[in-house]
Amino acid sequence: THVVAEPCMNCKYTDCVLVCPVECFYEGDNMLYINPDECIDCAACIPECPVEAIFQEDDLPEQWSSFVELNAEKAPEC
Ligand code: SF4
Repeated sequence: THVVAEPCMNCKYTDCVLVCPVECFYEGDNMLYINPDECIDCAACIPECPVEAIFQEDDLPEQWSSFVELNAEKAPEC
């Protein structure tokens, strides 16, 4: 799955949402989340993100590893 990490916080752009073919982005209080059960790993969102907040799970920098669980937890609640 793909994961939204810390740089997304308070970002006002939603370019990623527009390109996602399965509409699996969900808007939380101050950032977006990807629902891992819906993401098809197409990677279309990565180049659209102006703050480089989106990663394929395997490429996620170590310091943001907690965001894997956060996306999975939060996306279904949005
Ligand atoms: Fe949507 Fe594709 Fe990004 Fe997954 S990788 S969130 S399916 S655009």
